[in-house]
Amino acid sequence: MTVRPFIPVAAPVFAGNEKTYVDDCLDTTWISSLGAYVDRFERAFAVFCGRRHALACSSGTTALHLALVGLNLEPGDEVIVPTLTFIATANTVRYCGARPVFVDSDPHTWTIDPAAIEARITPNTRGIVAVHLFGHPADMDPLRAIASKHGLWILEDCAQAHGALYREQRAGALGDVAAFSFSGNKIITTGEGGMVVTDDDDVAARLRVLKAHGMDPERKYWFQEIGFNYRLTNIAAAIGLAQLERVDWHLARRADVSRWYRDALSGVEGLSWQVEATWARHVWWMFTITLDENVPVDPDQLAAALLARGIETRPVVVPMHALPPYQNEAAGERFPVADRIARRGLSLPTSAALSLEDVKYISRSVSECLTSDHVGSRLG
Ligand SMILES: *Cc1c(COP(=O)(O)O)cnc(C)c1O
Repeated sequence: MTVRPFIPVAAPVFAGNEKTYVDDCLDTTWISSLGAYVDRFERAFAVFCGRRHALACSSGTTALHLALVGLNLEPGDEVIVPTLTFIATANTVRYCGARPVFVDSDPHTWTIDPAAIEARITPNTRGIVAVHLFGHPADMDPLRAIASKHGLWILEDCAQAHGALYREQRAGALGDVAAFSFSGNKIITTGEGGMVVTDDDDVAARLRVLKAHGMDPERKYWFQEIGFNYRLTNIAAAIGLAQLERVDWHLARRADVSRWYRDALSGVEGLSWQVEATWARHVWWMFTITLDENVPVDPDQLAAALLARGIETRPVVVPMHALPPYQNEAAGERFPVADRIARRGLSLPTSAALSLEDVKYISRSVSECLTSDHVGSRLG
């Protein structure tokens, strides 16, 4: 058997001006949070999303927190959040002293189930977080209808969905405010980083002050309110600008990878994956499969068998309602769709670096490992 290189579950690709721009930061000594690349990255990202304002932040988490502060979220408030998301979506609501109220997922797109929201709305509900999970946009029309009926805002968590489309509209331009992440494993990366985008001039102006300690832009060392240091460095922005210049290439490679997976896995018994709705352009942050209940192997066993073949995978997140910080308040509620996806799901390697050969090898390995013979002794 030929020895294949290890295939990581995610890998950034720096195929553009990343190194040139970073060298420029070092050569000119503009390495901190002031600098031309921060401005250029923000302007280019606003154009990419079709929004008036983009504010670079130190992470997706700080971008979400800043966005929620801009939406005036306060203690005692409640926010509708899908239970199937990364924990930062819920934690940032808590950072504001507010309460995330969890909602189950749609069984096809795995994003928040609009039909389950209205039962959870109370007089304290202020907004809905639309998470575009794994790169698939949430179903925005019903969310907007609910939001306008109840006077709620919509915050998009676009951490996994740069470039995704909902009925021809870009993720980031679908709600009131949106937050992106550029963490190392996201669709484009700055190492660690994030962005808030919005069309609201007042929110943007306030957040620009708040992300830099709250200092009055007209009067040095005058602070009207308590702010944060949530700024992105010029070096990180330099990497981000170079990534953004080639974002169409990154998105096209991921579309290829997902198509190769679907072709290679379509005949395999017992497997399904997130459905791309007719109204969506999925950007395939993670190609994630679920194993039917009758498959004699669970995702942990499949992950171990794949790792033995040099293929790294990722379990699906544990839904928020099952995690220690949130399980008490969600006690007694049921989230069967999210639970099933989490219990039977596994993310396969997904990156712009994968070749057709890689995807064929991974798919063949998945198919072989799905029978108990191939996971071997672990099944006992
Ligand atoms: C990655 C991620 C975040 C947090 O972004 P960081 O840059 O890691 O802070 C928030 N929400 C979702 C859905 C994510 O995937």
